[in-house]
Amino acid sequence: MGHDPYTTAITAGRPPAEPGAPMNVPIHLSSTFHANGHYGYVRDGNPSSAAFEQAIGALEGGHALAFASGIAALNAVLDMVPTGSTVVAPLHAYSGTMKRFTELETQGRLQVRRVPMDDAAGLAAAAAGAALLWLESPTNPLMEVCDIRAAVAAGRAQGALVAVDNTFATPMRQRPLELGADLVMHSATKYIAGHSDALLGVLVTANHDLHAELAQRRVLLGAAPGVLETTLGLRGIRTLPIRMDRAEATARELAQRLTRHQAVTRVRYPGLEQDPGYSTHGGQASGPGAMVVIDCIGSTEAVEQMCGSLAIWVHATSLGGVESTIERRARWAAESPDVPAGLVRLSVGLEDVDDLWDDLLLGLNRLL
Ligand SMILES: *Cc1c(COP(=O)(O)O)cnc(C)c1O
Repeated sequence: MGHDPYTTAITAGRPPAEPGAPMNVPIHLSSTFHANGHYGYVRDGNPSSAAFEQAIGALEGGHALAFASGIAALNAVLDMVPTGSTVVAPLHAYSGTMKRFTELETQGRLQVRRVPMDDAAGLAAAAAGAALLWLESPTNPLMEVCDIRAAVAAGRAQGALVAVDNTFATPMRQRPLELGADLVMHSATKYIAGHSDALLGVLVTANHDLHAELAQRRVLLGAAPGVLETTLGLRGIRTLPIRMDRAEATARELAQRLTRHQAVTRVRYPGLEQDPGYSTHGGQASGPGAMVVIDCIGSTEAVEQMCGSLAIWVHATSLGGVESTIERRARWAAESPDVPAGLVRLSVGLEDVDDLWDDLLLGLNRLL
């Protein structure tokens, strides 16, 4: 505890250092444990998932709970909110998150006030009487930046719970608990696991009662993750700091080059001075991360073909893996209608920057 994150990522979640003991926590393939010990039934917790939770908790500055997916983590939080409550949700965010809020609204479970994440005054106004503020910053895929401190202050004044989806920034760039949030959520499927091979979610809080309540929701909703997934999540954490550094450095360079390409009308990246989120993001995060979003010229078909024509960039959904992926987000019906047809989301991975650029350039030049 108290170490630099580069060190914590390596040292956290290890078994006790005893002669002959394994250095890594084994994958405990056991659904039950001998009676009267610390562990009982796998859905309530197990040593493999606990090691992952220790590591991500240490990086975010709280106590973590691992979930079967990011959406399972979201649902555990929503399940805590009393029926009929008012909640504040992002107008634009990860499509699955938006869809879930809409469902609960349609079912009459919750009253939902939707606010763009970059509208601090709108968030403050919407917080009146709310039980929960669900924030995402930067947002997927519009890269809107929320002033987290201002939103936390607005939520606090109303006694609302404030949760932040920190998937894009990761704890290496942004620590919402330090900014005053009650809860951090991750789709650990993305940067944390980092190799596009596991579905995993996580919630982190420094509040003991909230942790206990969410642990109970996880048990009763059956939302616990598998031990192979949490083991892969912990393995991902070991290299998270250096993966973020490398991917972000490449993303910064590609974002700069993209601003000068004729087929690109806008680059959405909080590391660019001209980006509307630049100063807010800079005030709460230590770097812009490795997601770069571009608005392209050309027909929907031409942009779609461009995404599929590349040799290194993988035309696929999801993000945060070692491999760079590219996707036209409006191809999904669940995506917000405010996402332009020609908007392309780039998840910058660990390949060579010039190889990535040359590949992308061939595709973009076809749009001219
Ligand atoms: C992918 C994603 C989610 C959903 O997480 P799953 O692990 O796929 O359930 C939530 N928020 C953001 C920002 C995401 O990118």
